[in-house]
Amino acid sequence: MDVISAISTAAGTGGVAIIRLSGEGALSLASRMFAPDGKTAVADFSPYRMYTGKISGEGFTDYGMCVYFRAPKSFTGEDVVELHCHGGVAIARGILAKTLSLGARAAEKGEFTKRAFLNGKLSLSSAEGMIDMINAESLASVRAGEMLYNEKLSAEIKSLQDALKDVLAAVSVDIDYPEEDAGGFNAAVNAAAIAEIADKIERLASTYGAGKRVKDGVTVAICGRPNVGKSSLLNALLGCEKAIVSDEEGTTRDAVEGDLLIDGIKFSFFDTAGIRENSGAVESMGIERAKSILRSADIVLSVDDGRGEVDLSDANGEILRVFNKCDLKRSAKRFDAQVSAATGEGLEGLKNLIAGKAVGETSLDKVFIIERRHYGALLRAVQSLRSAADNAGIITQDLIAVDLKDAWDALGEITGETASEQIINTVFEKFCVGK
Ligand code: GDP
Repeated sequence: MDVISAISTAAGTGGVAIIRLSGEGALSLASRMFAPDGKTAVADFSPYRMYTGKISGEGFTDYGMCVYFRAPKSFTGEDVVELHCHGGVAIARGILAKTLSLGARAAEKGEFTKRAFLNGKLSLSSAEGMIDMINAESLASVRAGEMLYNEKLSAEIKSLQDALKDVLAAVSVDIDYPEEDAGGFNAAVNAAAIAEIADKIERLASTYGAGKRVKDGVTVAICGRPNVGKSSLLNALLGCEKAIVSDEEGTTRDAVEGDLLIDGIKFSFFDTAGIRENSGAVESMGIERAKSILRSADIVLSVDDGRGEVDLSDANGEILRVFNKCDLKRSAKRFDAQVSAATGEGLEGLKNLIAGKAVGETSLDKVFIIERRHYGALLRAVQSLRSAADNAGIITQDLIAVDLKDAWDALGEITGETASEQIINTVFEKFCVGK
């Protein structure tokens, strides 16, 4: 018997908890701990149908349901059985313990999905999309995960690999028949074809910045002189009293954070302490923190009320220049937005600007990159292709073929086709037990 077992629902109390078994012998194991209400014995259960009955736990019985998914039409591609019991922590644990005492092995993190991947049920990138969906904290992040889960990226990768296959075939012809001209390797033509594939991959890789922000959220630093209205702007944007607003300069000693969803993307705002000189020790700490926020922020709102902006030389993200207190006066100077934290004027426009900066030119309706692992693999593929294109006609075709093959392998790592055991294990370590 090779059956793995785990509680698949989240730890905690709830209406229902699910214990999942997968592997050869799952149904016969279930037959030893599930007593159906009806006449049908567990061994004769029709697949994909729920049966009610008594579930044995260690030292108790619960009343619930059992469903059998027959291989290969199951999540893992193996025989799968789910026991649905009442959603108590101890109940679920007791039933899990029973499965283990009957010979099942406790599943490792992500082992169900790993088995699904190894049985060809989904690609590695699809599995990553699934866990991204599970871990998502915003709607945009769910959708980004869904794009991977639905094999949109793997389809794109496969089409790139197909294009690469054509070039590899042309190169191989030349390796096999170097003396023949017709149908042989035309270095210039193939260099162009290789460069075109590299360009495509590079364009895909360039979506990683936006993709990462969509998946992980965007940090926005609000900077500006004391009393310019940073705290007021943060409050107005978040629609709640989060930061302390005061007329006294230097009141915001520490960064105050607040999250906001704009177009489904999570934005974390940081109100930084007023950056000014000759300040006391406590405030200096705030200033250091403000600088570090400025350095790490994806977007910096440089707020000005006419007295000028603060030094933004530490900023690495996109800067949006915001004129605040436009209810008092308007600025003739060019600003990205003129707002009033007091009256709310211009705030919707500012939110749209912020959302636009986060995704830039990247279209979230198309395929984009959200995983660092995929980004790294794409860069390696580009590197190999550039080397192949640069060397076409200079070095021998078999060496060009090596570069092309490397690019192919790098792309295959994304779908999992050429991923090493180590890569696969690293991916599934990010999963929870029971998935
Ligand atoms: P911070 O030091 O930059 O965080 O500034 P605060 O948010 O504490 O605001 C300083 C002062 O400016 C407070 O008295 C606010 O009420 C006022 N203030 C902030 N925004 C506006 C605005 O848009 N219009 C007007 N009239 N006053 C504002």
